[in-house]
Amino acid sequence: MARTHTYDTVIIGSGLGGLVCGAVLSKEGQRVCILEKNEQIGGNLQTFKRDGKTFDTGVHYVGGLDKGQNLYKYFNYLGIVDRLHMERLDENGFDIVAFKDSERTYKLGMGYDRFKEILLSDFPFEEAAINKYCADMQKLSKSYPMYYVSAAEQYDSNELMSMGAEEYLTALTDNKKLRTVLAGNMFVYAGVAGKTPLYVHALIEDSYIESAYRFIDGGDQIAQQLSRVIKNNGGDILRKHEVATLVEEGGKVVYAEDAEGNRFSADNFISNIHPAQTMKLTDSKLIRGAYRSRLNGLENSVSVFAIYISLKEHSLLYDKSNFNYFAEPDAWVGGNYTEDTWPYMYAMYPAAMQADSKYADTISIMCFMRYDEVQTWADTHNTTLKKNERGETYTQFKKRKAEKLLDVVEEKFPDFRRHIESYYTATPLTFRDYIGSDDGTLYGIVKDHKDMARTYISPRTKIANLYLTGQNINIHGVLGVTVSAFLTCSMMIDKKTLIDKVNDANKN
Ligand SMILES: Cc1cc2nc3c(=O)[nH]c(=O)nc-3n(C[C@H](O)[C@H](O)[C@H](O)COP(=O)(O)OP(=O)(O)OC[C@H]3O[C@@H](n4cnc5c(N)ncnc54)[C@H](O)[C@@H]3O)c2cc1C
Repeated sequence: MARTHTYDTVIIGSGLGGLVCGAVLSKEGQRVCILEKNEQIGGNLQTFKRDGKTFDTGVHYVGGLDKGQNLYKYFNYLGIVDRLHMERLDENGFDIVAFKDSERTYKLGMGYDRFKEILLSDFPFEEAAINKYCADMQKLSKSYPMYYVSAAEQYDSNELMSMGAEEYLTALTDNKKLRTVLAGNMFVYAGVAGKTPLYVHALIEDSYIESAYRFIDGGDQIAQQLSRVIKNNGGDILRKHEVATLVEEGGKVVYAEDAEGNRFSADNFISNIHPAQTMKLTDSKLIRGAYRSRLNGLENSVSVFAIYISLKEHSLLYDKSNFNYFAEPDAWVGGNYTEDTWPYMYAMYPAAMQADSKYADTISIMCFMRYDEVQTWADTHNTTLKKNERGETYTQFKKRKAEKLLDVVEEKFPDFRRHIESYYTATPLTFRDYIGSDDGTLYGIVKDHKDMARTYISPRTKIANLYLTGQNINIHGVLGVTVSAFLTCSMMIDKKTLIDKVNDANKN
């Protein structure tokens, strides 16, 4: 029988943003409830198991987790950092960048001094460009107060803030290889030439240069730990509860209703799902047509094709580096590939189920894929909760793409297939169905440095007690979404008080 439940804050979606908001607000004494449509919490933090091994779907490495660094401070305040099982990646190359036309590989080092030193050994005539790049990345990331756990309202305004990432790198040096190496881990932000702001590149690169970590046995532990905090503070997380409607009366959302007709009323509501999807949940007149059209008209980042490989036992040595490959000298191709040029790039993430393993247990290989490639099967929806086979033609499509990608991998790793025990694939449809976006977008709304106002989404909405959080607000990624969640909470709790508490928790 449908029931009504009452809370201080109801959160729609248990992605990282929803869970961080739930943890912060419940720590601050609120009774929170998170409604999640899936069987598993975490959104892109979800893992799955095959052959007894854990596979990450959407978190392969995370920056800023050395003691005293930004993500460490936020996670420490939340009470989860000491419980996360992770390992630091190779200081002398957490990311390796390789090109089709060359045997040589390039490494991104950890710590700005090492980062510079390694790049200088590869590009000895580019000292000025490398020094400028490092100074600019630090200057730009320090311009965003919350990113450095500060409650200052004032942004340290500078010319870098309105620049585009690709334009910046083009102006930085004529050396195309260096430019691509500097954008070499671009899978983690799906950069778009002429659009992606330099700050998106800078905030992500800066955090990885500061320190890069990989989770042992799955990044879903972030979700599990946040869930523990929320439940210990009296909060509820209800899985298999898909929010179907947000009902507004008198300028406020009064309740969220799930597909079974259960109602959840609260003082405040936070939506952790795509802003365009959020607005589809309410017919409130306060949400003007122009705002709805603007949200619906925003471009989403490209999607992904992924191969999750279960490796043969003791077959492939475990590498504490990610491997990023480019067939083209230009990193900024994004979704502008053809059948022939795909996959012009891929990112390869080995993983182990124990720290300091000699051999890798699994490896995930990811490359960009446009949603239109899977349009034929767009009417099919398949998750563990609602099983629905997409048919033989889809199976064949995935097999053909996987084998093509593996052919390209074997250019650099001859005979790579001999390590494979079995493999599983995911397409834009998998990400669409598990996360609930329209098109399986990797990182949500594409930010445009030439049109910041249109592509910036505020956590506030025209409905006084409805707020937004997650990767579409501010910036994506584990660090970006965590900062965004604190920003969202600062709409309900005084920002200075909240940030002071984060800093106080990190005093020793
Ligand atoms: C392939 C891939 C690789 C990535 N790699 C990295 C990486 O290495 N490092 C890194 O830092 N970041 C990485 N990211 C990005 C990072 O994972 C995301 O930015 C972040 O997890 C997004 O969090 P979110 O709060 O926006 O929620 P999301 O993950 O988008 O979750 C939203 C949640 O809302 C739920 N939901 C949707 N509709 C409803 C509804 N109507 N009712 C109830 N619940 C609903 C969904 O089921 C989901 O659980 C990667 C992402 C992808 C896709």
